[in-house]
Amino acid sequence: TTMSSAEIREKFLRFFESKGHQIVESSSLVPHADPTLLFTNAGMNQFKDVFLGFDKRPYQRATTSQKCVRAGGKHNDLENVGYTARHHTFFEMLGNFSFGDYFKLEAIRYAWELLVDVYGLPADRLWVTVYAEDDEAYSIWTREIGVPAERVIRIGDNKGARYASDNFWMMGDTGPCGPCTEIFYDHGEGIAGGPPGSPDEEGDRYIEIWNNVFMQFNRDEAGVMHPLPKPSVDTGMGLERTAAVLQHVHSNYEIDLFVRLIAAAARETSSADMDSPSLRVLADHIRACSFLLADGVIPGNEGRGYVLRRIIRRAIRHGYKLGARAAFFHRMVPDLVAEMGAAYPELVGSQERVSEVLRQEEVRFFETIEHGMSLLESELAALAGDGVFSGATAFKLHDTFGFPLDLTADVCRERGVSVDVAAFDAAMAQQKEQARAAGKFRMAAALDYSGPETAFHGYDALDFNGQVLALYRDG
Ligand code: ATP
Ligand code: MG
Ligand code: MG
Ligand code: MG
Repeated sequence: TTMSSAEIREKFLRFFESKGHQIVESSSLVPHADPTLLFTNAGMNQFKDVFLGFDKRPYQRATTSQKCVRAGGKHNDLENVGYTARHHTFFEMLGNFSFGDYFKLEAIRYAWELLVDVYGLPADRLWVTVYAEDDEAYSIWTREIGVPAERVIRIGDNKGARYASDNFWMMGDTGPCGPCTEIFYDHGEGIAGGPPGSPDEEGDRYIEIWNNVFMQFNRDEAGVMHPLPKPSVDTGMGLERTAAVLQHVHSNYEIDLFVRLIAAAARETSSADMDSPSLRVLADHIRACSFLLADGVIPGNEGRGYVLRRIIRRAIRHGYKLGARAAFFHRMVPDLVAEMGAAYPELVGSQERVSEVLRQEEVRFFETIEHGMSLLESELAALAGDGVFSGATAFKLHDTFGFPLDLTADVCRERGVSVDVAAFDAAMAQQKEQARAAGKFRMAAALDYSGPETAFHGYDALDFNGQVLALYRDG
């Protein structure tokens, strides 16, 4: 027997409700009044001020199923999508929160009870990490819960950066943070990868399913840790990763929530190879793009809008790779709404607008993608899978064909080639400088043309900056 994602979500919320937690709605993917955060990246975001002691709620315990996007900022998984079994750009994080109420002992007990007694996971497949100096958490796991010491691993704050693990959780460069304890599931011998903290932990055999953070500090801009008014608990369990375990599959992309989306991606690209990573990328990206659009993000050239545009263009490129030559991506929206509309009604309400904005973005990018791809391909062919892709060409792709740098890098990565990012940046800086100089020149020329007297009258009317005036005066 397996458990559906909907059941896992429901059981999580009901379990914590039975332990005195208030069920709270997911917040928007666009953080409310928090300029330090690109998109909502964890369940605790909407409670940030409660942890900091600036805000009070009528409850001390809460539980949520939170929409998250990790495609920029401190937590960025865009480059992992299509490469690992466990990362999405958009995913759902189930969480329980204690605002100065219970702490380590109860949090760990709850997590174990839910996983082993409610979800029925085999205890001997679970591994745990604790923060290296957290003797309290270590002894709760080994003595109270009885996890054998060989499966409880101490991990530091990764200052030495020897391995990727890091048991000190931070929402961003500033804000609430603290030591954490993470629970991993061993997917078994057939899969490459070592246990957490080992040199080959980057493999996907041991997959982290739940993080329990002991919120104790507020990190300021200078990196100083200030103790929070009350020690609190913030946890995040990945719905898709837990579903993979409970549905006896290894990859998140094999769970119930993705079946329809992968089929839709194959249908819209007429793809026969159902194992193509591009189908997974499309299934992932239609979720991220649609949810971001539904929450009010609009594709654009900067900030949040540019991140969205980049995800859309990456999706189109994967469709192109599979053979699509005209707008197709937006036709996956109805499939997404059929899959997730019941849990997230905002998708239903915005379905038509979301499809239309995606379609327009696609039509635009399909005008240049063909030429861009042939330039990219000929450059790659010249490199013959060895060397570094020219930053100047990457810049031309960006400037003339609308290829964001990360898209070019994504294609290159598939061929084992990296991009000369420094040269790309230099080309970008040079173009900005030229545009500025050309602007000066045009204005100076215009002033010259009108003659010095007329030009003088123009100072107020035109929004010249001091440099331009200086240039004119000098000239
Ligand atoms: P990983 O080390 O695997 O990248 P993480 O330590 O970055 O995960 P946390 O910040 O601790 O993740 O988030 C809490 C939980 O949310 C994780 O234990 C995992 O189950 C889930 N999660 C995190 N990132 C993703 C993602 N990109 N896609 C799907 N689930 C995720
Ligand atoms: Mg991560
Ligand atoms: Mg981790
Ligand atoms: Mg973690």
